[in-house]
Amino acid sequence: MIVEQIWTGNAYRNFNYLIACPETGEALAIDPLDYRKCLDTAADRGWTITQIVNTHEHGDHTGGNKAVVKATGAKIIAHHGAGGRIPNMDRGVHAGDVIRVGKTVELECLDTPGHTMSHVCLLSHTEQPALFSGDTLFNAGAGNCHNGGHPEELYETFENQLEKLDENTLIYPGHDYLVNILKFTLDREPDNESAVDLLSRYGSQDPNDALVTTLDQEREINTFFRLDNPAVIARLVEQFPELGDNPSRRDVFLKLRELRNNW
Ligand SMILES: [Zn+2]
Ligand SMILES: [Zn+2]
Repeated sequence: MIVEQIWTGNAYRNFNYLIACPETGEALAIDPLDYRKCLDTAADRGWTITQIVNTHEHGDHTGGNKAVVKATGAKIIAHHGAGGRIPNMDRGVHAGDVIRVGKTVELECLDTPGHTMSHVCLLSHTEQPALFSGDTLFNAGAGNCHNGGHPEELYETFENQLEKLDENTLIYPGHDYLVNILKFTLDREPDNESAVDLLSRYGSQDPNDALVTTLDQEREINTFFRLDNPAVIARLVEQFPELGDNPSRRDVFLKLRELRNNW
C-alpha cells in the first residue's frame, strides 16, 4: 500500500489522500477536494484512480467528486446513509465492509458517527495499520458536531472504536489542525510535556510534509484520549464544579467537546 497525503493549501486546511496498489497502479482517492492536485499526483506516479471514498457528506470532502469522475470514471463510495446527500454514489458501505484497491490493498470500513451521522473511517489491513479518519479524529483533537453530528455519538465512536485500535496505527486526518489543537491541549493541560515538545518541533511545520502521528502518540497529546488524566479532570472540575469530584469519561469528553467549540 502506498499512501500519498496531499495538502490542499486551502482555507479549511484539508488533506486529501491517494492510496495505491504498488502492483497494479490502481488508486483510491479519499475526499479529493483538490481534484487537480489529486489527478496530477496520480498522473505523475503513473496511477489510475478507480475509486473515490468520501469519509462523509460535507462539501469540503465531496466537492472534487464530479471532476475526478469526469476525468477517470472512478466509482464513488461512502457511508450507506449518505446516499441522499452525496450525488451519484455508486456504493454505500457498512461497518466491516472491505474496499479493495488493486491486488494488494484492503481497507476496512468503520462506521464512525459523531461529526456527522454518516461518517466512515478506513482502516488498512497492513502490518502497521493506517487509519484515514476524516473529520472524526484529528491530530491532537476530535471533530466538531455542528453540522449534522452529535457529541454523544462522537464519544461512543472514540470509546468503542478508536480507543481499541492498535497503538501503532498511523493517523491520517481530513484536515491539518495540529498546531491549533495542540494549543487547546495545552490550555487544558499546561504541563503536558509531549504537547509542549511537539508544538516546539512542529509549530511551523510545512503541511506538504506533515507529521504523521500514531495512536500511541495521540494518547499523549490528544485531550480526547486523556479522559482519565488527573490534571485534565482537575482543571475541568475547577471550572465546572457541577461535574462533581469524580466525573465519568463520558462527562469529561462531552465537556471538552463543548469547551473546544468556544475555544
Ligand atoms: Zn466535515
Ligand atoms: Zn472537513
